Amino acid sequence: MPPRQSGVSGFSNSQETKIELVEKAMSFVPYDQRDGFIWIDGALVPWRDAKIHVLTHALHYGSGVFEGARIYGGEVFASTAHSERLHASANIIGFEVPYTVAQLDQAYRDVIEAQGLTDGYLRPIAWRGAEEMGVAAKRTKIHVAVACWDWGSYFPEEERLKGIRLRWADYRRPDPATAPCRAKAAGLYMICTIEKHKSMDEGYADALMLDWQGRVAEATGANVFFVKDGKLHTPIADCFLDGITRRTVIALAKKRGIEVIERRIQPEELAGFEQCFLTGSAAEVTPVSEIGEYRFTPGEMTKTLMAGYSAGTRVKTAAAE
Ligand code: PMP
Repeated sequence: MPPRQSGVSGFSNSQETKIELVEKAMSFVPYDQRDGFIWIDGALVPWRDAKIHVLTHALHYGSGVFEGARIYGGEVFASTAHSERLHASANIIGFEVPYTVAQLDQAYRDVIEAQGLTDGYLRPIAWRGAEEMGVAAKRTKIHVAVACWDWGSYFPEEERLKGIRLRWADYRRPDPATAPCRAKAAGLYMICTIEKHKSMDEGYADALMLDWQGRVAEATGANVFFVKDGKLHTPIADCFLDGITRRTVIALAKKRGIEVIERRIQPEELAGFEQCFLTGSAAEVTPVSEIGEYRFTPGEMTKTLMAGYSAGTRVKTAAAE
């Protein structure tokens, strides 16, 4: 296939060709061209018909909130915590999810069953619809959808085990006075996608973002932990997402008698840390080998917490074996 013409897209020919080659190698099927069912506003809809109008408010103004959860052995890990966070995120950006937490949890079970999935990823989303255009959107209906699909390791498996490489992000997590930073709101991911793409273009797996005051914050879709002298250090989650996996790993560490210190971490302090890992529903516990100029070696503590998290998420599967 001849390279596509570069121009308005801003991508060079070589970049597009590289993406095409990678997609071909991975036999990538576009997400809108898959089969099965997606739960929308209370009903299961054939996957390819799960479409919305181009004047959807959320598309123009970022008025959407979402969740990302993993399915292990046919069940959503921390299902209710994810449903509660969807409600909390919606409230922060000014609307109510029109389904209760119990109804959302049931919707997850229904869509997982319709998809016949045992292990995978679940994406609930709530958004303002196309009923009213403009910044004012009080007459929009709140829509909810839940999709799920088979999804392997968030980072390439070979890289994951030896530790992934991160670069420093250019953008910072916004000041809580400038954005609803505690919500898992679609609009907040604009800077994450920019940083993730820059990282991929430069051969990195992801980027580590600082907070608005220049302290270590989180990756583009995961929280960060460091190990020093047998203790865990992690930034205080007061201007970025306090991940469900973050809280699970903190509890897991404390149960094992590991001291967990939540504090402000300056970027220069990374020189003194021995190990580093990311946590997230998609990322699970992923060792990091490099952040900019700093190097880490995945060690016992990281391995113990990886194994502990893996065992915790697969309790039912393990019990059935
Ligand atoms: N930070 C960001 C920006 C995220 O997108 C995620 C993934 N939801 C996390 C942290 C980790 O959150 P959780 O452990 O709840 O998935």
